Amino acid sequence: MPRDPLPSSGPPPRAATLRDALRRALRAGPATAKELSMDVGLRERDVAEHLAHLARSLEHRGEKLVVEPATCVACGFVFEDRSRLTRPGACPRCRSTRIDPPVFRIEGASSDG
Ligand SMILES: [Zn+2]
Repeated sequence: MPRDPLPSSGPPPRAATLRDALRRALRAGPATAKELSMDVGLRERDVAEHLAHLARSLEHRGEKLVVEPATCVACGFVFEDRSRLTRPGACPRCRSTRIDPPVFRIEGASSDG
């Protein structure tokens, strides 16, 4: 089978496709960054960055990305003031590294499309 040359008209809209996949995964139900990374084939650390962009584009649709904050399994500390979407490394109160990661979901306009 002959090999097709790579298209030269610019890169495919991969980032937009990824965000669409993230959005679909989140519309199916709440998920952690790790679950999303497996769903869409991203590294976990890259999911947060795409989610930040997705959150902005969702606003135009009347939707909202909701983040359930990470919590410390050991003492129950809630990482409420954490603005980043990544999982914290350790609890500032008890130093435990047993952290329940943040859970993401989409709220708002429900008709899919
Ligand atoms: Zn703790």
